[in-house]
Amino acid sequence: MIQPLSCPVCSKQLDPAADSQTSPFCSDRCRRVDFFRWWDGRYAIVEELAPGGALTDPDLLDAQESMPPDEI
Ligand SMILES: [Zn+2]
Repeated sequence: MIQPLSCPVCSKQLDPAADSQTSPFCSDRCRRVDFFRWWDGRYAIVEELAPGGALTDPDLLDAQESMPPDEI
């Protein structure tokens, strides 16, 4: 099965014979962009699960304050 390779980051058409080191990306730059995208998502998940991480999240602090402590 032969399918045209394209960079997942910038969708640029790839020459399979060009540079296998950056595959499946067109360049080292796009490879890093993809890595940092992945890292961003991973980091968000880790922070969400970390018990102390919520302290620095203004949204979560807001939600806690708006919750009535004694009602129901
Ligand atoms: Zn690219």
